[in-house]
Amino acid sequence: MNIAQRQALGLDQTHLVDYQGRLVHAQVVESLNALNNAAKSAGFDFTIASSYRDFHRQSMIWNAKFSGKRPVLDRNSDTVDISALSDAKIVEAIMLFSALPGTSRHHFGSDLDVYASNYLQPGQSLQLEPWEYQIDGPFYDFACWLDSSLQQFGFFRPYDKFRGGVAEEPWHISHIETSKAMMDHVSLSTIYEALETHDVLGKAAILENLPTLYSRFVTNIAEH
Ligand SMILES: [Zn+2]
Repeated sequence: MNIAQRQALGLDQTHLVDYQGRLVHAQVVESLNALNNAAKSAGFDFTIASSYRDFHRQSMIWNAKFSGKRPVLDRNSDTVDISALSDAKIVEAIMLFSALPGTSRHHFGSDLDVYASNYLQPGQSLQLEPWEYQIDGPFYDFACWLDSSLQQFGFFRPYDKFRGGVAEEPWHISHIETSKAMMDHVSLSTIYEALETHDVLGKAAILENLPTLYSRFVTNIAEH
């Protein structure tokens, strides 16, 4: 694998720079600043909950969910009983909200989970669950503002609605040009190679179903 391919899978960090204490792709800084400033002017304390995540961090999240140490949630934020499921079904259940290591858009550095910290109620902590961004949720106004503003700053929401793969993730924004360029370096064969050579639970079921998982969860996103 070349460096660009490794970067796109979260296995190399040389495309990243520090942005307010977090790692992001060097090419998103300017757009991110503009978006951040516009959000401030509109009354939102634009806050990043999560930006870059590497392959190993994603594997830790994955393995914790696969082994039942972290809850696997359904679209209603209810916990799924994975003990009754086959490995292939556990994989699908996890991928509703957590990407397979090597396929997370957070590997790109172009994708961020964001919220408006000044809209959290006292004593409330961020859950990153859909209800928080829906009508009556604390970030509903922020979500509406994002919807109408993202595009002019070069961003979009890849998980704007449920398409049968990843759940609706109103908090997840992506820099259009940068993520496209990163995606050009992702392929089934490099993902296969990365998974095969790392400790990822459910590996046999994953590798067996990889093409289907890839088209259902990785490329199945909003147009922009
Ligand atoms: Zn995200």
